[in-house]
Amino acid sequence: MDKPVTERISDDRSGSKAAGEYRVLARKYRPSSFGDLVGQDALVRTLKNAITSGRIAQGYMLTGVRGVGKTTTARIIAKALNCIGPDGKGGPTPEPCGVCANCTAIAEDRHVDVLEMDAASRTGIDDIRELLEGVRYRPTSARFKIYIVDEVHMLSDKAFNALLKTLEEPPEHVKFIFATTEIRKVPVTVLSRCQRFDLRRIESEKLQSLFAAVSAKEGAKVDDGALALIARAADGSARDGLSILDQAISQAAGQVVTEDAVRGMLGLADRVMIFDLLDAVMRGDVKTALDLLANQYAAGASPVVVIQDLLELVHWLTRLKVAPEGAADPALAEAERKRGAAMSEKLGMAVITRAWQMLLKGLTEIRSAPMPLQAAEMVLVRIAYAADLPTPADALKALESGGSVAVRAPSMAPPPQRPSTQGSVARAMAPEALPVNEPQAYATPQSFAEIAALFEQKKYAMLAAQLKHNVRLVRFDQGVIEFNTDKNASKDLAGQVGAHLRDWTGQRWMVSVVNAAGQPTLHEQEVEHAKSDPLVKALLDAFPGATIAAIRNAEKK
Ligand SMILES: [Zn+2]
Repeated sequence: MDKPVTERISDDRSGSKAAGEYRVLARKYRPSSFGDLVGQDALVRTLKNAITSGRIAQGYMLTGVRGVGKTTTARIIAKALNCIGPDGKGGPTPEPCGVCANCTAIAEDRHVDVLEMDAASRTGIDDIRELLEGVRYRPTSARFKIYIVDEVHMLSDKAFNALLKTLEEPPEHVKFIFATTEIRKVPVTVLSRCQRFDLRRIESEKLQSLFAAVSAKEGAKVDDGALALIARAADGSARDGLSILDQAISQAAGQVVTEDAVRGMLGLADRVMIFDLLDAVMRGDVKTALDLLANQYAAGASPVVVIQDLLELVHWLTRLKVAPEGAADPALAEAERKRGAAMSEKLGMAVITRAWQMLLKGLTEIRSAPMPLQAAEMVLVRIAYAADLPTPADALKALESGGSVAVRAPSMAPPPQRPSTQGSVARAMAPEALPVNEPQAYATPQSFAEIAALFEQKKYAMLAAQLKHNVRLVRFDQGVIEFNTDKNASKDLAGQVGAHLRDWTGQRWMVSVVNAAGQPTLHEQEVEHAKSDPLVKALLDAFPGATIAAIRNAEKK
């Protein structure tokens, strides 16, 4: 921003406002040359090279999220192609002069040969026909007739077809510049005829220095913290960030714009509080967590933003765990970095990724909830409880070492009643688990479940699976098994089961398929059983909508 941009941009293009009236910063500091485009270095280099070497495409496709500068870039391209220089003799140039008749007319949006259409509001075939009517006529005063179509993906199929006809055989003097936020919706027939440029989200450091420069030019004093906050909230868009800056400066009414003021204006949560909140939740300290949330809410932070901030923090902590060097964000305060490092070290990967999933799921809920604060509270409570639950890996480890899994009580309420803690996790995680050290335990199976387990133990996985899923037991006695089968069971299941049992137990087994109603399948029984276990119940409560998909036998590990 080293050029006097302000002087080159004319008044509000609607023309309805009185001269000298205040212009919003986003318009006032709209880039007018490639050099002014912030954070689009690759695009600028390619475009400049193309124009310098005279390789001018028939059509350009500019894509990127809203607010990154697509239409602004389109206009700069229009100027670059049509600039005649201060002396009126220049050709297409990567550095449009900004003072010639073409440059000024385009900047003021009043050039007769540069036609702009917003496809978001004019999607039909007639709209595009009207726009393209003049294609075959030569430009009135410029070198090229330039058609800028914004949000081109919104055009109807018919409109695209009409456009395509022109794109296939465009007159020499016509250039198209398309802009879209959704490149996937643009037909490939159109894409293939354009040179494509992806506008990137502008990095927040670049935005911050842009906003600092603009503030200085405006004579406004804005704290670095406030600038960083605005850059973060802008989410890659210079336009959005300038709008926020604009608002912050006018709110400060001549005073210094502080970080707190911006935070209040944006409904943002306090950074330190987000650390405290995550800390409390991960400790299972529900009361502190809810108090912190309530305080922030009272101070104006929206519950959605709080959860988003938590997500961001969890993401950053995860990155710190995986690659500490790469995650060191220089924009962060030293204190935050230290605290983050300590937290990420303390939290296990499984715990932290589970928190991420629950927050993400919670965010969707809060967005659609009639009472976002209450919804956010529920999300925090859920995570606090889950933070106390063992991760599946821990549970398995504990099982394998023969112990039970310790569950610490969350501080707000006692955990669900769990009679005989010992072994209850074992039942839940592996209801049909075989005692590891007793290979002879099933010499004579005592129940149908033991029969199925025996097949599993002997590595007859297919047969074991059928016994568990496709068979309903009608009768079980020593040496006698009767069941009915569903269509997925193999025809000779009974015969195979009988033969194996005889081999393994040394006694005769009468196994037969009967046509009578039987018990629920073993699998159905396991699921029912697992649901009634307090630990599994707590897990299901913590993950609403979750179902028990599989019950693993701990012994397989
Ligand atoms: Zn010019």
